[in-house]
Amino acid sequence: MPKLSSERFDLAVVGAGILGLATALAAARRGLRVLVIDRDAQANGASVRNFGFVTVTGQERGAMWERARRSREIWREVAEAAGIPIVHSGLWMMVRRAESVAVLEAFLRTEMGAGCRLLSAAEARRRCPQLPAPQATAVLESHSELRVESREAIPRLAAWLASAHGVTFMRDTTVTGIDMPNVYTSRAVLRAERLAVCPGDDFTGLYSERLARYALTRCKLQMLRLASPGFKLPAALMSDLGLARYLGYAELEAAAPLKARLEREQPEHLRHGVQLIVVQGADGSLVVGDSHHYAATPDPFAHEEVDALILDEFRAALGIEPPPTVERWIGTYASATDRQVLFDSPEPSVRTAIVTCGAGASTGFAIGEEVITSLFDSGAAA
Ligand SMILES: Cc1cc2nc3c(=O)[nH]c(=O)nc-3n(C[C@H](O)[C@H](O)[C@H](O)COP(=O)(O)OP(=O)(O)OC[C@H]3O[C@@H](n4cnc5c(N)ncnc54)[C@H](O)[C@@H]3O)c2cc1C
Repeated sequence: MPKLSSERFDLAVVGAGILGLATALAAARRGLRVLVIDRDAQANGASVRNFGFVTVTGQERGAMWERARRSREIWREVAEAAGIPIVHSGLWMMVRRAESVAVLEAFLRTEMGAGCRLLSAAEARRRCPQLPAPQATAVLESHSELRVESREAIPRLAAWLASAHGVTFMRDTTVTGIDMPNVYTSRAVLRAERLAVCPGDDFTGLYSERLARYALTRCKLQMLRLASPGFKLPAALMSDLGLARYLGYAELEAAAPLKARLEREQPEHLRHGVQLIVVQGADGSLVVGDSHHYAATPDPFAHEEVDALILDEFRAALGIEPPPTVERWIGTYASATDRQVLFDSPEPSVRTAIVTCGAGASTGFAIGEEVITSLFDSGAAA
Protein backbone atom coordinates (compact mmCIF):
# COMPACT_ATOMS: atom_id res chain seq x y z
CA MET A 1 0.00 0.00 0.00
CA PRO A 2 1.62 3.36 -1.05
CA LYS A 3 2.57 5.57 1.92
CA LEU A 4 1.45 9.14 2.46
CA SER A 5 4.27 11.57 1.72
CA SER A 6 4.59 14.43 4.21
CA GLU A 7 5.70 16.89 1.52
CA ARG A 8 2.97 19.16 0.17
CA PHE A 9 3.23 20.87 -3.22
CA ASP A 10 1.42 23.92 -4.63
CA LEU A 11 1.03 22.07 -7.92
CA ALA A 12 1.39 18.49 -9.08
CA VAL A 13 1.63 17.84 -12.82
CA VAL A 14 0.86 14.45 -14.37
CA GLY A 15 3.02 13.92 -17.46
CA ALA A 16 6.57 15.03 -18.26
CA GLY A 17 6.02 15.59 -21.99
CA ILE A 18 6.30 19.10 -23.37
CA LEU A 19 2.87 20.07 -22.04
CA GLY A 20 3.61 18.92 -18.49
CA LEU A 21 7.03 20.60 -18.55
CA ALA A 22 5.55 23.81 -19.97
CA THR A 23 2.92 23.83 -17.23
CA ALA A 24 5.61 23.21 -14.59
CA LEU A 25 7.64 26.13 -16.00
CA ALA A 26 4.70 28.54 -15.90
CA ALA A 27 4.06 27.59 -12.26
CA ALA A 28 7.73 27.69 -11.26
CA ARG A 29 8.05 31.18 -12.75
CA ARG A 30 5.45 32.24 -10.16
CA GLY A 31 7.60 30.80 -7.39
CA LEU A 32 5.30 27.82 -6.75
CA ARG A 33 6.48 24.44 -5.40
CA VAL A 34 5.99 22.05 -8.29
CA LEU A 35 6.05 18.26 -8.59
CA VAL A 36 6.02 16.49 -11.98
CA ILE A 37 5.08 12.79 -12.08
CA ASP A 38 5.58 10.48 -15.08
CA ARG A 39 5.16 6.75 -15.40
CA ASP A 40 8.18 6.37 -17.68
CA ALA A 41 11.79 6.34 -16.51
CA GLN A 42 12.64 8.81 -19.28
CA ALA A 43 10.62 10.80 -21.82
CA ASN A 44 9.16 8.36 -24.31
CA GLY A 45 5.97 9.94 -25.68
CA ALA A 46 5.16 12.22 -28.61
CA SER A 47 7.39 14.96 -27.22
CA VAL A 48 10.60 13.07 -28.02
CA ARG A 49 9.33 11.42 -31.22
CA ASN A 50 8.44 14.60 -33.07
CA PHE A 51 10.41 16.79 -35.49
CA GLY A 52 11.18 19.35 -32.79
CA PHE A 53 9.76 21.77 -35.31
CA VAL A 54 8.31 24.82 -33.58
CA THR A 55 6.03 26.08 -36.33
CA VAL A 56 4.18 29.37 -36.37
CA THR A 57 3.47 29.76 -40.09
CA GLY A 58 0.57 27.51 -41.04
CA GLN A 59 -0.95 27.06 -37.57
CA GLU A 60 -4.71 27.53 -37.47
CA ARG A 61 -5.67 31.19 -37.68
CA GLY A 62 -6.56 32.77 -34.33
CA ALA A 63 -5.79 31.15 -30.98
CA MET A 64 -3.40 28.44 -32.25
CA TRP A 65 -1.37 30.91 -34.28
CA GLU A 66 -1.15 33.23 -31.25
CA ARG A 67 -0.16 30.31 -29.01
CA ALA A 68 2.58 29.33 -31.45
CA ARG A 69 3.94 32.90 -31.48
CA ARG A 70 4.02 33.03 -27.68
CA SER A 71 5.51 29.51 -27.42
CA ARG A 72 8.23 30.34 -29.93
CA GLU A 73 9.29 33.26 -27.69
CA ILE A 74 9.41 31.01 -24.63
CA TRP A 75 11.38 28.36 -26.56
CA ARG A 76 13.98 31.06 -27.36
CA GLU A 77 14.26 32.09 -23.70
CA VAL A 78 14.36 28.54 -22.39
CA ALA A 79 16.77 27.30 -25.06
CA GLU A 80 19.28 29.94 -24.06
CA ALA A 81 18.86 29.42 -20.32
CA ALA A 82 18.82 25.62 -20.44
CA GLY A 83 21.56 25.22 -23.07
CA ILE A 84 19.25 23.69 -25.67
CA PRO A 85 20.70 24.28 -29.15
CA ILE A 86 18.38 25.83 -31.73
CA VAL A 87 19.52 23.57 -34.52
CA HIS A 88 18.10 25.67 -37.31
CA SER A 89 15.55 28.38 -37.96
CA GLY A 90 12.92 29.31 -40.51
CA LEU A 91 10.74 27.53 -43.05
CA TRP A 92 10.86 27.11 -46.80
CA MET A 93 7.51 25.95 -48.18
CA MET A 94 8.64 24.73 -51.62
CA VAL A 95 5.67 24.38 -53.98
CA ARG A 96 5.38 23.12 -57.53
CA ARG A 97 1.78 23.91 -58.57
CA ALA A 98 0.09 27.15 -59.63
CA GLU A 99 -2.78 26.35 -57.23
CA SER A 100 -0.26 26.24 -54.37
CA VAL A 101 1.15 29.62 -55.32
CA ALA A 102 -2.42 30.98 -55.17
CA VAL A 103 -2.74 29.62 -51.61
CA LEU A 104 0.57 31.22 -50.61
CA GLU A 105 -0.46 34.55 -52.13
CA ALA A 106 -3.77 34.44 -50.23
CA PHE A 107 -1.86 33.53 -47.06
CA LEU A 108 0.46 36.51 -47.50
CA ARG A 109 -2.58 38.80 -47.62
CA THR A 110 -3.62 37.69 -44.11
CA GLU A 111 -2.10 38.85 -40.81
CA MET A 112 -0.38 35.43 -40.65
CA GLY A 113 1.80 36.36 -43.62
CA ALA A 114 3.56 39.19 -41.78
CA GLY A 115 7.31 38.63 -42.00
CA CYS A 116 6.94 35.96 -44.72
CA ARG A 117 7.82 36.45 -48.38
CA LEU A 118 7.51 34.59 -51.66
CA LEU A 119 10.80 33.68 -53.37
CA SER A 120 10.93 32.78 -57.04
CA ALA A 121 12.22 29.29 -57.77
CA ALA A 122 15.30 30.86 -59.38
CA GLU A 123 16.05 32.93 -56.28
CA ALA A 124 15.66 29.87 -54.06
CA ARG A 125 18.07 27.90 -56.28
CA ARG A 126 20.59 30.75 -56.11
CA ARG A 127 20.33 30.77 -52.31
CA CYS A 128 20.71 26.97 -52.07
CA PRO A 129 22.16 25.48 -55.25
CA GLN A 130 22.30 22.02 -53.62
CA LEU A 131 18.47 21.95 -53.82
CA PRO A 132 17.81 21.89 -57.58
CA ALA A 133 14.03 21.41 -57.10
CA PRO A 134 13.39 21.39 -60.87
CA GLN A 135 9.60 21.30 -60.43
CA ALA A 136 9.46 24.19 -57.90
CA THR A 137 7.46 27.23 -58.96
CA ALA A 138 7.86 29.30 -55.78
CA VAL A 139 8.99 29.15 -52.15
CA LEU A 140 7.31 30.78 -49.16
CA GLU A 141 10.03 31.89 -46.76
CA SER A 142 9.30 32.42 -43.07
CA HIS A 143 11.77 33.31 -40.33
CA SER A 144 9.42 32.45 -37.46
CA GLU A 145 10.25 28.77 -37.03
CA LEU A 146 12.76 27.12 -34.72
CA ARG A 147 14.00 23.57 -34.57
CA VAL A 148 15.32 21.71 -31.54
CA GLU A 149 16.45 18.06 -31.36
CA SER A 150 13.58 16.86 -29.19
CA ARG A 151 15.22 13.72 -27.85
CA GLU A 152 17.91 15.96 -26.31
CA ALA A 153 15.86 19.09 -25.71
CA ILE A 154 13.13 17.50 -23.57
CA PRO A 155 15.55 15.85 -21.08
CA ARG A 156 17.55 19.11 -20.90
CA LEU A 157 14.42 21.11 -20.27
CA ALA A 158 13.45 18.77 -17.44
CA ALA A 159 16.96 18.87 -15.92
CA TRP A 160 16.96 22.67 -16.07
CA LEU A 161 13.51 22.88 -14.44
CA ALA A 162 14.91 20.79 -11.59
CA SER A 163 18.22 22.64 -11.21
CA ALA A 164 17.18 26.24 -11.94
CA HIS A 165 13.57 26.23 -10.70
CA GLY A 166 13.62 23.55 -8.01
CA VAL A 167 10.94 21.44 -9.72
CA THR A 168 10.74 17.93 -8.21
CA PHE A 169 10.45 14.98 -10.61
CA MET A 170 9.05 11.55 -9.76
CA ARG A 171 9.62 9.17 -12.65
CA ASP A 172 8.75 5.51 -13.02
CA THR A 173 5.57 6.43 -11.17
CA THR A 174 1.99 6.10 -12.44
CA VAL A 175 -0.75 8.34 -11.09
CA THR A 176 -3.61 5.96 -10.39
CA GLY A 177 -6.26 8.15 -8.77
CA ILE A 178 -7.08 11.59 -7.47
CA ASP A 179 -8.99 12.78 -4.44
CA MET A 180 -7.72 16.32 -3.95
CA PRO A 181 -5.48 17.20 -2.24
CA ASN A 182 -4.43 13.52 -2.40
CA VAL A 183 -2.74 12.27 -5.56
CA TYR A 184 -2.51 8.47 -5.53
CA THR A 185 0.48 6.98 -7.31
CA SER A 186 2.12 3.58 -7.68
CA ARG A 187 4.77 4.68 -5.12
CA ALA A 188 3.17 7.02 -2.60
CA VAL A 189 0.18 9.19 -1.87
CA LEU A 190 1.22 12.77 -2.58
CA ARG A 191 -0.38 16.05 -1.54
CA ALA A 192 -0.90 19.05 -3.82
CA GLU A 193 -3.13 22.13 -3.67
CA ARG A 194 -3.73 22.05 -7.41
CA LEU A 195 -3.26 19.45 -10.14
CA ALA A 196 -2.61 19.66 -13.89
CA VAL A 197 -3.19 16.47 -15.88
CA CYS A 198 -1.18 16.47 -19.14
CA PRO A 199 -1.46 12.79 -20.16
CA GLY A 200 -0.76 13.07 -23.90
CA ASP A 201 -2.74 10.38 -25.70
CA ASP A 202 -3.69 8.34 -22.62
CA PHE A 203 -7.47 8.80 -22.41
CA THR A 204 -8.39 5.67 -20.50
CA GLY A 205 -6.60 6.50 -17.25
CA LEU A 206 -7.35 9.60 -15.19
CA TYR A 207 -10.82 11.13 -15.63
CA SER A 208 -11.54 8.65 -18.43
CA GLU A 209 -15.32 9.08 -18.06
CA ARG A 210 -15.04 12.80 -18.69
CA LEU A 211 -12.58 12.36 -21.56
CA ALA A 212 -14.98 9.87 -23.19
CA ARG A 213 -17.28 12.84 -23.93
CA TYR A 214 -14.76 14.33 -26.32
CA ALA A 215 -14.55 11.65 -29.05
CA LEU A 216 -10.77 11.51 -28.86
CA THR A 217 -8.68 9.18 -30.94
CA ARG A 218 -5.00 8.66 -31.71
CA CYS A 219 -3.01 9.62 -34.77
CA LYS A 220 -0.02 7.48 -35.76
CA LEU A 221 2.88 9.01 -37.71
CA GLN A 222 5.81 7.33 -39.50
CA MET A 223 9.16 9.09 -39.25
CA LEU A 224 12.61 8.60 -40.79
CA ARG A 225 16.09 9.87 -40.11
CA LEU A 226 18.25 10.09 -43.21
CA ALA A 227 22.03 10.48 -43.33
CA SER A 228 23.39 13.99 -43.90
CA PRO A 229 22.99 15.12 -47.51
CA GLY A 230 26.39 16.84 -47.18
CA PHE A 231 25.09 20.40 -47.10
CA LYS A 232 23.18 22.65 -44.72
CA LEU A 233 19.49 23.19 -45.40
CA PRO A 234 18.47 26.86 -45.68
CA ALA A 235 15.50 26.19 -43.33
CA ALA A 236 12.98 23.46 -42.50
CA LEU A 237 11.41 22.31 -45.77
CA MET A 238 7.79 21.54 -46.60
CA SER A 239 5.88 21.00 -49.86
CA ASP A 240 2.43 21.39 -51.48
CA LEU A 241 0.95 18.55 -49.41
CA GLY A 242 1.48 20.61 -46.23
CA LEU A 243 -0.81 23.32 -47.61
CA ALA A 244 -3.68 20.84 -47.53
CA ARG A 245 -2.98 19.78 -43.91
CA TYR A 246 -1.83 22.83 -41.98
CA LEU A 247 -5.04 24.70 -41.20
CA GLY A 248 -3.54 28.20 -41.51
CA TYR A 249 -3.37 27.51 -45.26
CA ALA A 250 -5.91 24.70 -45.70
CA GLU A 251 -8.82 26.74 -44.30
CA LEU A 252 -8.27 29.59 -46.78
CA GLU A 253 -10.79 29.67 -49.64
CA ALA A 254 -7.91 29.62 -52.11
CA ALA A 255 -6.98 26.10 -50.92
CA ALA A 256 -10.01 24.38 -52.53
CA PRO A 257 -8.58 24.11 -56.09
CA LEU A 258 -5.27 22.80 -54.70
CA LYS A 259 -7.03 20.12 -52.64
CA ALA A 260 -8.98 19.02 -55.74
CA ARG A 261 -5.78 18.79 -57.79
CA LEU A 262 -3.96 16.84 -55.07
CA GLU A 263 -6.89 14.38 -54.94
CA ARG A 264 -6.35 13.75 -58.65
CA GLU A 265 -2.55 13.69 -58.67
CA GLN A 266 -1.52 12.25 -55.29
CA PRO A 267 -4.46 10.17 -54.00
CA GLU A 268 -2.20 7.60 -52.29
CA HIS A 269 -0.32 10.31 -50.40
CA LEU A 270 -3.63 11.76 -49.21
CA ARG A 271 -5.02 8.33 -48.31
CA HIS A 272 -2.08 7.82 -45.92
CA GLY A 273 -2.10 11.42 -44.75
CA VAL A 274 1.41 11.91 -46.12
CA GLN A 275 2.96 15.35 -46.16
CA LEU A 276 6.61 16.39 -46.27
CA ILE A 277 8.56 17.98 -43.45
CA VAL A 278 12.36 17.91 -43.58
CA VAL A 279 14.43 19.28 -40.70
CA GLN A 280 18.14 18.95 -40.02
CA GLY A 281 20.16 17.96 -36.96
CA ALA A 282 23.45 19.37 -35.72
CA ASP A 283 25.26 16.42 -37.36
CA GLY A 284 23.62 17.22 -40.71
CA SER A 285 21.22 14.24 -40.60
CA LEU A 286 17.65 14.87 -41.73
CA VAL A 287 14.45 14.05 -39.85
CA VAL A 288 11.85 13.40 -42.53
CA GLY A 289 8.13 12.60 -42.32
CA ASP A 290 5.30 12.08 -42.05
CA SER A 291 2.03 10.13 -42.39
CA HIS A 292 -1.27 10.23 -40.46
CA HIS A 293 -3.37 7.15 -39.63
CA TYR A 294 -6.18 7.40 -37.08
CA ALA A 295 -7.38 4.66 -34.69
CA ALA A 296 -8.11 4.16 -30.99
CA THR A 297 -5.04 1.89 -30.89
CA PRO A 298 -3.06 2.30 -34.10
CA ASP A 299 -0.89 -0.65 -35.12
CA PRO A 300 2.72 -0.24 -33.95
CA PHE A 301 4.33 -1.11 -37.30
CA ALA A 302 6.08 1.16 -39.81
CA HIS A 303 4.87 0.22 -43.28
CA GLU A 304 7.34 0.30 -46.15
CA GLU A 305 4.77 1.59 -48.66
CA VAL A 306 4.14 4.64 -46.45
CA ASP A 307 7.86 5.39 -46.09
CA ALA A 308 8.14 5.07 -49.88
CA LEU A 309 5.42 7.72 -50.33
CA ILE A 310 7.23 10.09 -47.95
CA LEU A 311 10.51 9.60 -49.84
CA ASP A 312 8.72 9.99 -53.18
CA GLU A 313 7.54 13.44 -52.05
CA PHE A 314 11.09 14.23 -50.85
CA ARG A 315 12.43 13.52 -54.37
CA ALA A 316 9.67 15.52 -56.06
CA ALA A 317 10.02 18.57 -53.81
CA LEU A 318 13.80 18.78 -53.34
CA GLY A 319 14.94 17.31 -56.64
CA ILE A 320 17.62 15.14 -54.99
CA GLU A 321 17.83 11.46 -54.16
CA PRO A 322 17.12 10.86 -50.43
CA PRO A 323 20.30 9.96 -48.48
CA PRO A 324 20.30 6.49 -46.83
CA THR A 325 17.76 5.90 -44.04
CA VAL A 326 19.50 5.48 -40.68
CA GLU A 327 16.49 5.27 -38.32
CA ARG A 328 12.73 4.66 -38.47
CA TRP A 329 10.16 5.10 -35.74
CA ILE A 330 6.50 5.77 -35.19
CA GLY A 331 4.83 8.17 -32.82
CA THR A 332 1.25 8.83 -31.78
CA TYR A 333 -0.57 11.92 -30.58
CA ALA A 334 -4.07 12.71 -29.38
CA SER A 335 -6.51 13.77 -32.08
CA ALA A 336 -10.00 15.27 -32.23
CA THR A 337 -11.92 16.54 -35.23
CA ASP A 338 -13.62 19.45 -33.47
CA ARG A 339 -10.75 21.13 -31.59
CA GLN A 340 -7.00 21.62 -31.51
CA VAL A 341 -6.68 21.70 -27.72
CA LEU A 342 -8.86 20.18 -25.01
CA PHE A 343 -9.14 21.95 -21.65
CA ASP A 344 -11.27 20.32 -18.99
CA SER A 345 -11.94 21.19 -15.33
CA PRO A 346 -12.97 17.89 -13.73
CA GLU A 347 -12.70 19.44 -10.26
CA PRO A 348 -12.28 23.05 -9.10
CA SER A 349 -8.58 22.50 -8.33
CA VAL A 350 -7.81 20.24 -11.31
CA ARG A 351 -7.28 20.99 -15.00
CA THR A 352 -6.73 18.52 -17.84
CA ALA A 353 -4.97 19.77 -20.97
CA ILE A 354 -4.46 17.73 -24.14
CA VAL A 355 -3.22 19.00 -27.50
CA THR A 356 -5.49 17.21 -29.97
CA CYS A 357 -3.46 17.86 -33.12
CA GLY A 358 0.18 17.65 -34.15
CA ALA A 359 1.21 21.01 -32.73
CA GLY A 360 2.13 20.48 -29.08
CA ALA A 361 5.81 21.31 -29.57
CA SER A 362 4.76 24.55 -31.24
CA THR A 363 2.06 25.66 -28.81
CA GLY A 364 2.78 23.84 -25.52
CA PHE A 365 4.44 26.70 -23.63
CA ALA A 366 1.47 29.02 -24.22
CA ILE A 367 -0.96 26.27 -23.23
CA GLY A 368 1.02 25.70 -20.02
CA GLU A 369 0.57 29.38 -19.17
CA GLU A 370 -3.17 29.12 -19.85
CA VAL A 371 -3.45 26.12 -17.52
CA ILE A 372 -1.67 27.95 -14.70
CA THR A 373 -3.75 31.11 -15.17
CA SER A 374 -6.91 29.04 -15.05
CA LEU A 375 -5.78 27.13 -11.93
CA PHE A 376 -4.36 30.01 -9.91
CA ASP A 377 -6.06 33.20 -11.12
CA SER A 378 -9.67 32.15 -11.41
CA GLY A 379 -10.39 31.35 -7.78
CA ALA A 380 -9.95 27.57 -8.31
CA ALA A 381 -10.53 26.02 -4.88
CA ALA A 382 -8.08 23.54 -3.40
C1 LIG B 1 5.87 11.77 -34.92
C2 LIG B 1 5.36 13.07 -34.38
C3 LIG B 1 5.76 14.27 -34.97
C4 LIG B 1 5.30 15.48 -34.46
N1 LIG B 1 5.83 16.64 -34.95
C5 LIG B 1 5.52 17.82 -34.34
C6 LIG B 1 6.19 19.02 -34.71
O1 LIG B 1 7.09 19.01 -35.53
N2 LIG B 1 5.77 20.18 -34.15
C7 LIG B 1 4.82 20.21 -33.19
O2 LIG B 1 4.48 21.29 -32.72
N3 LIG B 1 4.23 19.08 -32.77
C8 LIG B 1 4.55 17.89 -33.30
N4 LIG B 1 3.97 16.74 -32.88
C9 LIG B 1 2.98 16.80 -31.81
C10 LIG B 1 3.64 16.95 -30.46
O3 LIG B 1 4.77 16.11 -30.35
C11 LIG B 1 2.62 16.64 -29.37
O4 LIG B 1 1.48 17.49 -29.54
C12 LIG B 1 3.19 16.86 -27.98
O5 LIG B 1 4.44 16.21 -27.84
C13 LIG B 1 2.23 16.39 -26.90
O6 LIG B 1 2.87 16.60 -25.66
P1 LIG B 1 2.28 16.00 -24.33
O7 LIG B 1 3.17 16.44 -23.23
O8 LIG B 1 0.83 16.34 -24.25
O9 LIG B 1 2.31 14.41 -24.54
P2 LIG B 1 3.48 13.32 -24.31
O10 LIG B 1 4.78 13.80 -24.83
O11 LIG B 1 2.94 12.06 -24.88
O12 LIG B 1 3.61 13.20 -22.76
C14 LIG B 1 2.57 12.70 -21.95
C15 LIG B 1 3.23 12.05 -20.74
O13 LIG B 1 2.22 11.75 -19.77
C16 LIG B 1 2.60 10.56 -19.11
N5 LIG B 1 1.41 10.00 -18.46
C17 LIG B 1 0.18 9.84 -19.01
N6 LIG B 1 -0.68 9.34 -18.07
C18 LIG B 1 0.04 9.21 -16.92
C19 LIG B 1 -0.28 8.74 -15.60
N7 LIG B 1 -1.52 8.34 -15.26
N8 LIG B 1 0.70 8.72 -14.66
C20 LIG B 1 1.96 9.12 -14.96
N9 LIG B 1 2.32 9.58 -16.21
C21 LIG B 1 1.36 9.61 -17.16
C22 LIG B 1 3.18 9.70 -20.21
O14 LIG B 1 4.06 8.72 -19.69
C23 LIG B 1 3.92 10.75 -21.08
O15 LIG B 1 5.29 10.85 -20.71
C24 LIG B 1 4.38 15.50 -33.38
C25 LIG B 1 3.97 14.31 -32.81
C26 LIG B 1 4.45 13.11 -33.29
C27 LIG B 1 4.00 11.82 -32.64
